[in-house]
Amino acid sequence: MYDAIVVGARTAGSPTAMLLTRRGYRVLLVDRAGFPSDTLSTHYIHQAGVAHLDRWGLLEQLAATNLPPARRLTFDVGPFALTGTPPPADGIEVAYAPRRRVLDKILLDAAAAAGAEVREHFSVEELVYDGERVVGIRGRAAGGGTVTERAHMVVGADGVRSFVARTVQAPVYDARPGLTCAYYTYWGGVPLDGAELYPRDGRLIGTSPTNDGLAIVIAFWPQAEFRRVRADIERNFLEVAELAPSLAARLHAGERAERFYGTADLPFFFRKPYGPGWALVGDAGYHKDPLTAEGITDAFRDADLLSDAIDAGLSGRRPLEEALAGYERRRNEDALPIYEFTYQLASLAPPAPEMQALFGALRENQEETNRFFGVMARTVPVADFFAPENIARIVGGGAESSVDREAVAA
Ligand SMILES: Cc1cc2nc3c(=O)[nH]c(=O)nc-3n(C[C@H](O)[C@H](O)[C@H](O)COP(=O)(O)OP(=O)(O)OC[C@H]3O[C@@H](n4cnc5c(N)ncnc54)[C@H](O)[C@@H]3O)c2cc1C
Repeated sequence: MYDAIVVGARTAGSPTAMLLTRRGYRVLLVDRAGFPSDTLSTHYIHQAGVAHLDRWGLLEQLAATNLPPARRLTFDVGPFALTGTPPPADGIEVAYAPRRRVLDKILLDAAAAAGAEVREHFSVEELVYDGERVVGIRGRAAGGGTVTERAHMVVGADGVRSFVARTVQAPVYDARPGLTCAYYTYWGGVPLDGAELYPRDGRLIGTSPTNDGLAIVIAFWPQAEFRRVRADIERNFLEVAELAPSLAARLHAGERAERFYGTADLPFFFRKPYGPGWALVGDAGYHKDPLTAEGITDAFRDADLLSDAIDAGLSGRRPLEEALAGYERRRNEDALPIYEFTYQLASLAPPAPEMQALFGALRENQEETNRFFGVMARTVPVADFFAPENIARIVGGGAESSVDREAVAA
């Protein structure tokens, strides 16, 4: 009998298992994948996410994997680019974009080093119930027979298509259809000074440095264009790159190092992340478009919040249900504003006149540009930055650029 069984051993599952094990709980961590392995995901981790790795004692190990930090952010709106550095998160000034096969292996090993029992290549096929309550899992290792394991809590860290969430019929709320589709790949010989984002009308392309001297480059289109894009990915990808000439020139001078990976399965939803004997963490519990690159940072936050709640409940400090309700509340409080912000950006619509005015004003205001980047880095609350009085102060305050006047007049 385990205290917890965690299904899924990537950015949500392994930290949850690690944190529970470090508190003395007996944890089984299973994944049908083997590690190290990549998964369908780019991998930019904002300062707030990096701060989690630092607190967990894993940052030094990650930084030693031939992985340059991304200190600066460039947000190129076409006529001009904003460049800056978000305010730090607990002293962490840099972001990183580690390959998932690097990051996820470090997280898995940290769970194992803490004492979690890890089973790779193990697929969960059923949940075991006692009445309404989930009390375990049934599944099999590759080539093996069916085994049953029991636990006080089964945690679904099994991603957007979560088997655990579907089996317990976790209630879904604030669900919205996906807006974009995306393809990404890796390029060698592309000099980068941090991460770069190029929103364009109906398109977005972004890049950042990753392991081994490569750049990860990702492009987004409206989801309705997926079939067309898929029919000739390379041509369509390069067409988006041409909308960002400074990036396109570097891609042409460099060399693509891998094939393209892509998806149009990018829905928006929240799920109630707990019930009798079960909980959800990471993408299993809430999902959004990846174009603001928040998924891993959110998964780390949720691993922290959920392991606190399970600990409070299993130790008897608080009724478990009350502790898990607190987990859901805190997750949603933190996630909702960036969920809305991401939803708006994912429309890939040209910036509204107010946003054009804001970008124009930010051009003259480095401190507020840094704070704007802090919204995505999760070091400046969305509500603080976009408070009407703050926007009015920024747009009305500094030396007005011609872009302001044009935008306001439009
Ligand atoms: C194109 C794209 C780009 C992205 N870019 C970024 C980015 O730059 N930055 C960022 O922060 N986020 C990004 N994301 C989001 C990020 O990938 C997710 O938020 C993150 O992977 C969530 O981690 P997770 O641990 O919850 O789930 P996952 O990483 O999906 O892991 C789930 C695990 O569960 C296992 N599993 C599933 N079912 C079972 C089962 N029945 N039995 C056993 N194991 C099972 C799977 O094998 C898998 O290993 C991107 C996503 C996409 C699709």
